[in-house]
Amino acid sequence: MLALLLFPCSALQAQGKTDIYILGKDKGSVSSMQANGITLLDARATAKKLGGSVELYAAAKQIKVAFPGMYAILSAPLAEAIINAQTVKLPAEVVASGSRIYVPAQFFMLPQVQKALDRQITFENNALVVEKNFTLAFTDKEQKNAYDRLRFFRKGNISFTSKQKNKHTVEVVFPSVVLKRNASLRLKDDFIRSFSISQRGKDAVLKVILGKKGKNWRFTEENGELVFACAETALPSAGAALPRQEEETPAKQTDMTPSVFADAAEDAKADVPVIKPAPQPVMKSGAPVITAKRKLRIVIDPGHGGKDPGATRRGSSQEKALNLTVSKHLYNYLKDQGFEVKMTRDKDVFVTLAGRSKMANDFKADLFISVHTNAAKRAAANGFEVYFRSDKATDAEAAEVAAFENEALQYEEAHYSFVDMLLESMAKNEFMNESSKLAGHIRNYVYKEPGIGIAVRQNNAIRQANFYVLRGVKAPAVLVEMGYISSSKDRARLNNKAAQKRMGQGIGKGIVSYLKAEGKISK
Ligand SMILES: [Zn+2]
Repeated sequence: MLALLLFPCSALQAQGKTDIYILGKDKGSVSSMQANGITLLDARATAKKLGGSVELYAAAKQIKVAFPGMYAILSAPLAEAIINAQTVKLPAEVVASGSRIYVPAQFFMLPQVQKALDRQITFENNALVVEKNFTLAFTDKEQKNAYDRLRFFRKGNISFTSKQKNKHTVEVVFPSVVLKRNASLRLKDDFIRSFSISQRGKDAVLKVILGKKGKNWRFTEENGELVFACAETALPSAGAALPRQEEETPAKQTDMTPSVFADAAEDAKADVPVIKPAPQPVMKSGAPVITAKRKLRIVIDPGHGGKDPGATRRGSSQEKALNLTVSKHLYNYLKDQGFEVKMTRDKDVFVTLAGRSKMANDFKADLFISVHTNAAKRAAANGFEVYFRSDKATDAEAAEVAAFENEALQYEEAHYSFVDMLLESMAKNEFMNESSKLAGHIRNYVYKEPGIGIAVRQNNAIRQANFYVLRGVKAPAVLVEMGYISSSKDRARLNNKAAQKRMGQGIGKGIVSYLKAEGKISK
């Protein structure tokens, strides 16, 4: 009623709301209106939800919206946008009303905006839908003594043709794909010297320059990803199950068959991980040399346990079990890297939240990693997230997650709360900056780790929240939400044995990367 009174001049406009969905998540709604059958959105609110920055000049009826690498100026009542100094036509006039500027929804679907955000943006059923727009991406390289491998993420059914163009060049063409970004890398290796992958019109083209030992190559699908493998010796047939070659173990000279197809065997071999009992970790070649006087100490905290199952779905999946399994993989990875590692629990037992942080402090932990699995009422909610502690949650959603994870508090005994409050008063915000950096490294490496199959959003995978379990820890501390047990897609990956191991390794690699970046370990 009030809205109609505010715009008596235009009978064609009716106030409403339009939902925004970003990567499957409901990001709430923005104010919108209809004009001549076209939906106009509150430019400021929409741009902010998409991660843009906004300058609003209400008196001039003008708004400046900026996304990475582009800006747009929209002025009422013009049916155009000035994007990076170029005029772009819009299907309807920009409308100013009160302190808001409304722009046609089509503005957010312009190729310039989609490109800047690296997203596919559509408008359907009165909702602006933002999705990942790529179907192919280079993810990782592996350089081993006996072979090189290049790994590629692919979405949906992607066909390709590969052929040897000349003695040193192999070309793989992917028709009708959207490449995440062009990439080229010089491996300077005997198997693969260099490669490049680039978008050429609707196709993507991978060019691999072989080295002097690059006599045998193959491009195949392995466990859902595409792999270019190259070795000197003959490559076994696709899908052949080979024993897994340990990541850091140099290939033996007698090993005639390179384990180029190791992942195929991973599902078959992997079982419930067993924690390596050796209290004296063996420093493998290639493990980082620790420069600190003592070995760095890392505490892994598998969330929940015992009478507290954490999030559950359909009786079959329990958060406490998933957390423990991945934590054991993480434990083994970090042990192999030469760290002193402690778990707050290594079996299905209940540990209080305050007890967990106390354990970390008694151990004099340098880092604290709490491992959890998320859950949401919305079945569409999915993806990997890392949280670090802040007094204020970044958004309502983060607060919701924190509230859920803090539920275990109901099991606490009063005196633990007292101990924790005491610890909290000592810790304060001292480690917030460090923790946010650690969160960034973990996010990046879980994103890079192939075979996990859980979305890692570059924009919002890192969150701040007020987690009880992180409060008392006197070290950089993060809480990982590996995925959503409430999402059928995530749940399938969380229960996949190979993906569980990859998740542990991805988190571990992020930790190592953080420690290297901070100069806490060398190499
Ligand atoms: Zn949890």
